[in-house]
Amino acid sequence: MADRVLVIGSGGREHALAWKLAQSPHVKQVLVAPGNAGTANNGKISNSAVLVSNHTILAQFCKDHNIGLVVVGPEALLGTGIVDDLMSAGVRCFGPSAKAAQLETNRSFAKAFLDCHGIPTARGKAFADPQEACSFITSTDFPALVIKASGQAARKEIIIAASKEEACRAVQEILQDKVFGKTGETVVIEELLEGEELSCLCFTDGVTVAPMPLVQAHKQLMDGDQGPNTAGMGAYCPVPQIPEALLEKIKDSILQPIVDGMRQEGTTYVGVLQTGLMRTKDDVKIINFTCHFGDPQCQVILPLLTNDFYEVIQATIDGKLCSCMPAWSENRTAVSVVMASEGYPGEYVKGMEVTGNFPRELGVKVFHAGTTMQDDKVVTGGGRVLTVTAIKEDLMSALEEANKGVVAIRFQGAIYRKDIGYQAIAFLQQSLPKSCPG
Ligand code: AMP
Repeated sequence: MADRVLVIGSGGREHALAWKLAQSPHVKQVLVAPGNAGTANNGKISNSAVLVSNHTILAQFCKDHNIGLVVVGPEALLGTGIVDDLMSAGVRCFGPSAKAAQLETNRSFAKAFLDCHGIPTARGKAFADPQEACSFITSTDFPALVIKASGQAARKEIIIAASKEEACRAVQEILQDKVFGKTGETVVIEELLEGEELSCLCFTDGVTVAPMPLVQAHKQLMDGDQGPNTAGMGAYCPVPQIPEALLEKIKDSILQPIVDGMRQEGTTYVGVLQTGLMRTKDDVKIINFTCHFGDPQCQVILPLLTNDFYEVIQATIDGKLCSCMPAWSENRTAVSVVMASEGYPGEYVKGMEVTGNFPRELGVKVFHAGTTMQDDKVVTGGGRVLTVTAIKEDLMSALEEANKGVVAIRFQGAIYRKDIGYQAIAFLQQSLPKSCPG
């Protein structure tokens, strides 16, 4: 019997999750709560106003509406125990428990966990006491330091300190002056790693690890990685400059030890795990966790999944991932370009009408994020407004199609990058056979 699925969230990631789930013959309807203009009355997909912060009401809603599966998007919800509460109320929910999600919500936990299991990461430690933290800073030989407030919602609270004095000042501000409030009850101090950043995601049922193709996301607002950091302005998948053997190594030295370590500690991790990696000149090291699909990583990965997403999720929840391993398109590349509102990532303009031609070609998909319907018009309502994803046989064609899609869509003040995938393009151009002189 076909199932009803509820996706929680309202971003480009959630639109992509709903779009992929709706392709499954097992899925009759996908509700998105609260959703956006792209998930409103769109074939099998529609929006729901159910209150997701009250888990008792949410569980009852799922029972009343025969929801057979809930997929949680936003990270903040995982820390509230939404998966634990729904599962114990008898509602199947995809994602890690609140305890397992500490990998993302508690940086001190993550740091201690990685060290304890010998998983390659930046050298460093967590501290609650400012004196001890400053003594540690004074004793290190790190050329530059990163200071991170430990708690949830701390993603922006990262300080790169060029000197030990600056690092001690940052620690005092977080631990003594409490500039970040409760999220700064402890700090993680680590060495600044230099290299190329990558995202490696996997499905895991707590035992089996199924890595996804590697993704490179672009965090800075402007071309050439200039301007302020954002949640992500675009991404591409797979990453041609990374050899296949390195993905194997990442699985063996990072992903599998994390999943095994979590299980051994009694906090079995089930769901999608995204690792933020730094490829330094000597090695690949993990620098952060996201306990579900990142956004925009999701918008480039899911279009490359060739088997039934719903079946993979169900097998993951049931501990049977090895019987339903995800399969990936081998001859396609996906590129996503994010269109953001004027002012983003600071205070941004809202209420701009979105017009122009939404691309309808095969292999191009627009995922909505900060959009709402107002009297039959689509208007902007968030910082990141849309993601245009193109899926083509090679990176250059995908980039070209995605850029074409972006310029055909209009709203006042739209910001977007034109150089997504530039590292891969440089690599591909370098590896072209050189013609002989003369
Ligand atoms: P986080 O807040 O830990 O998720 O990190 C946010 C971003 O800060 C990462 O995506 C990196 O760009 C940067 N970052 C965090 N830790 C380090 C580190 N140890 N070395 C270099 N960059 C880092």
